[in-house]
Parts: sequence; structure tokens; C-alpha cells
Amino acid sequence: MYRTHTCGALNAAHVGQEVTLAGWVQKTRDKGFLIWADLRDRYGVTQLIFDEQRTLEHVFQQAKSLGREYVIQVRGTVIERESKNPNMPTGDIEILVSELTILNEAQLPPFTIEDETDGGEDLRMKYRYLDIRRNPVKNALLFRHKVAMEVRNYLSNLDFCEIETPYLIKSTPEGARDFVVPSRMNEGQFYALPQSPQTFKQLLMVGGMDKYFQIVKCFRDEDLRADRQPEFTQIDCEMAFVEQEDILNVFEGLTRHLLSAIKGVEVEKFPRITYDYAMKTYGNDKPDIRFDMKFGELNDVAKRRKGAGNGIATFKEFTEFLIFEEAELVVGIAAPGCATYTRKEIDALIDWVKRPQVGASGMVYVKCEEDGTYKSSVDKFYDQEDLAKWAEITGAKAGDMIFVLSGPADKTRAQLSALRMELATRLGLRNPAEFAPLWVVDFPLLELDEESGRWHAMHHPFTSPKPEDMELLATNPGKVRANAYDMVLNGNEIGGGSIRIHDKATQQLMFKYLGFTEDEARNQFGFLMDAFQFGAPPHGGLAFGLDRLVAILGGQETIRDFIAFPKNNSGRDVMIDAPSVIDEGQLKELHIKLR
Ligand code: ASP
Repeated sequence: MYRTHTCGALNAAHVGQEVTLAGWVQKTRDKGFLIWADLRDRYGVTQLIFDEQRTLEHVFQQAKSLGREYVIQVRGTVIERESKNPNMPTGDIEILVSELTILNEAQLPPFTIEDETDGGEDLRMKYRYLDIRRNPVKNALLFRHKVAMEVRNYLSNLDFCEIETPYLIKSTPEGARDFVVPSRMNEGQFYALPQSPQTFKQLLMVGGMDKYFQIVKCFRDEDLRADRQPEFTQIDCEMAFVEQEDILNVFEGLTRHLLSAIKGVEVEKFPRITYDYAMKTYGNDKPDIRFDMKFGELNDVAKRRKGAGNGIATFKEFTEFLIFEEAELVVGIAAPGCATYTRKEIDALIDWVKRPQVGASGMVYVKCEEDGTYKSSVDKFYDQEDLAKWAEITGAKAGDMIFVLSGPADKTRAQLSALRMELATRLGLRNPAEFAPLWVVDFPLLELDEESGRWHAMHHPFTSPKPEDMELLATNPGKVRANAYDMVLNGNEIGGGSIRIHDKATQQLMFKYLGFTEDEARNQFGFLMDAFQFGAPPHGGLAFGLDRLVAILGGQETIRDFIAFPKNNSGRDVMIDAPSVIDEGQLKELHIKLR
């Protein structure tokens, strides 16, 4: 037996036992006549002691030669430690070593393999296998496993069947570029790696496997944004004979279960809001609702020309604030407790929204003083009664500060949304131990690509329009809503899906509106439309991003630590050095000529 116990198993109850352990030498302390070594494995650290008096001479000498990360096996007796360490499960004992086998020597590692490391990101990526020996990374991988197991068990218990779908396929449109693989046996032809198993899972429904899931790698060749990986993992699901409501309920159940089983958190409310409401109220379709700061639209009370005489606002005569007057949207949020901000702090925040990443041209503020009065940067134009209306609409209380942006509606909402998140971060309102999931439903079916002037499927081209909106397709495509939904957790889209089109005619129509010629549609998706002619059941599904879900449950912002071998920001694996060139022979076999 290589080992009788792991390095995390022994405690006072084992004192007196003969044991064999194996692992890595984390560090040694040589006091001359006493040598201690910390032996580490996946399960913990156990202290070894070599004593000139009690240890055989040659073993003692061997111990002197031990270096960091040597792989060793020891036999010895569990003894009580003189100075105990209450912070370690094995802190009451140590092993008085009688036999030592050096299984493998190790070069000095390029960084310290302890919880706190001196290794920078790049170095740790290059030697990822060493980083994995560290608790933070190791625990993240164990945590991911636990989440994946909970998902598998939960869905299996509901009769979902995990089915593998192929990786060498034909392009599936999820809005990104495909990674392609040249075919050696079919000159000039290529496979695409799946952006998702979308069409296959739909075909599984036609095949009668009415509840499918798969924890599956997906590949999208996107320009990498921060914290995106070109290959990532989805919990991919599909169900037949369901309506949107059924799907929402099943996956709300899964999410509740995960939060309860993994975090011990019972979620009471699981709100459902429409896409339109989300955009108007939070300025984006993945709102973080752990905190309030809802948008208050101020057009009616801040615009003089339109509002004048309607009794809502009282106006100082003959003065108007042109910036608001000319804006499509004037909208504000109440930042709780921020009335105490100094001029300097306010200016810093104004500079923040003016950065090109946010892009606001300026910002108006209103201090809601404790005594019930208001002090604003637009006092010249608005009196106390006006400002009181703003406070009412934004929900501002005494002690709060209202920040107001204006301009084209969509842009201004996006800017205020960025400010809302920034304020929440600054105010400590984004508590990683708190979980606020919700569904966003009724997404638009199509979105206009400004550049090409063409309509794109907002989710993907298999998404079903809401039947009642069907007739708008021809007249006002932007207004057609889809049976599509996203699950949002703490400001992140963690999952999304839709009810699918399951008849050939509608699918054909959809391709037409998306600008596919009949030939193109047939070429790319003929197999799916054929399948729809052989008894396709109504079906729908969704996919959760496992990497992100695990990171959020783990209370982290970045997904990289939860992936064993992640790629860097340029899509490279710096450990194995991929992508890389391949040799002439291989290229030739693949019929590829490089210029
Ligand atoms: N295939 C979709 C995606 O990857 C999810 C779905 O519609 O089920 O986003």
C-alpha cells in the first residue's frame, strides 16, 4: 500500500498508530538535531518530524536532503505534537518518521506553493499543474465538481438523460464565429466545433428523448472580452411537450436546489420581469437586484416645454435647461446615503461617467439634505418643488443623492446602468454572500445590426416568436417578442433559452426574415427542417454557463480559477503553448497550403 492515510486524515485519535503517508514536501525546517517537514497532498498537510535521537541515522541524513516539492513516502508513528496548531485538522499530531522513500526529486518550483503565493498570473498559468497544488485553485476545482454533481443528480432525478452530442459538426449559429477543423478525408471540407449542441438537442426531441441534458464544452471564436474563454462549459438542456412556464419552473427548481445545497441559502422570491421592464428600470437585461436604485424617468418633470401646464411640474419662469430639454430621455437614480458626498467626490464620479468606456457628456446631481431641502447643480433652473418631484420618482430619501443623466434613450440607460453598478460596488452593496436570481422574459425576437442594417435573431434562429406577435413580423419586426428567457444571478446572465419553432413553415419564414435565401437555409439547416416534417413535438430548453455559475456560487468574479486549464486573454494556453504551427507533412495531409 502506498499510503494508509491521506495527509488530511490524522488527528489525536490516531496517536500511537503506525502509518504510511505519501505526498509533496511543502517546506522543511532544520533545527540541526530536529527536522520538520510539512507533507502535503490533496487532502491536507501533515507535519513530519525527524529526530536525531529517535530516527535512524541514514533516515535522518535523507531528511536533510529533502527539497521543496520532493515527492516522498514515509512510514512512522503518530505522536502528539508539543506545540499544537488549532488551525489545522492535523494540528494536534505529527509523524515521527522511521522510514523515508524519496519517490521523486523536484526542481525548485518557480513560485511558492502555498495559499499566499509570490507567483504572478502568467507564471502560475505556465505552471498551472503547480498552481493546482495550491488550496485556492484545488478547492475551486473540487467546488466545481460538487456543483456539477448536484446538477447531474437533480436533473437525473427528474428523468433527464445525459446524452453526448458530437464535437465535429456543421456550424450552429449562436452569434459567434466557429472554430473549424479541416477534414483530411474530405479535401477542402471542414467541420465546425459546436457553439452549442442546439440543433442536436432539438433533434433528440424529435427522437423522443423528451428530457435531455449535457454538461458540455462549447466553442466560440469571439474576440476575447475580459473573463471569457474560447471553450467553456454549458449545462445544456432541452424538454419536449412543455411551455415556457414548465421550463422556468424546472430550472428555477434547479437553481433553488443549488443555492440551498451548495450555499445553504434559501431563495424566497424568484422574480420574473420582462425585458422591457429590465431595460427601463435597470438599463440592462441582466440587472443585479441585490440592491435597489431603480431608474426614475424624469422627462415629465424635468422638461419644461413638454410638461408645462400639465400640473405635474412647476417651473421657474422663462428659464429652461437646454440639455434636458433636447434630450430624448432624462433619467436618474437615488444613491442611498450619498448626500454627504463632497464636491471632490462628486466631480470624481462625474469624471467616471465621462470616461470613454461609459461615455456620458455630463451629470446632474441633487443632494437630498437631511432637513428635507434639495441642493442641486441645476438650482438655477429648478426650484424645490421640482426637485421634490425628482426625489419622489427616483425614490430618493433624505440623505440620498440623485444622479441624473440625459441623452438618447438607449445610450443614456446604458450609461446610468454602468453608474448604478459602480455606485453599488463603491457602496458595498454587491455582497457575494447574497444571491438574488430572477428571470428576464419576453425578449425581442430580433435585433437590428446597425452596420449591415439586417435583422438578427437575438437568441438564435430557432427561437419561437410569441404567437400573438407573429403578425408584426412583416410590419414591425423589432416589436416582435420571443418566447425567450434568461436567468440572471447577481448581475450576470447565467442561463438562457427559448421555446423553439417546431414546424417547417415557421422555421422557413424565420430564415427568410433573417435574410437567408432558400438555398442558404436548405444548405445549412435542411436536416433540421427535414426533421420537422417527421413529427417534431413542441419543445424548448435552455443552457446555463457552468463556469460562471460556479464562480458566482463560489463568490468570485473571475471564471478562470474554476477551470483546470484555462486560456489567457489572447486565447492561448501558455502551458502547452497552443495554438501552434503544425509541420509541413500534417498540413499537406490536410490539403492546406499556407501562404
Ligand atoms: N443554445 C443556447 C445557447 O447556447 C441555449 C438554448 O437556447 O438552449 O445560448
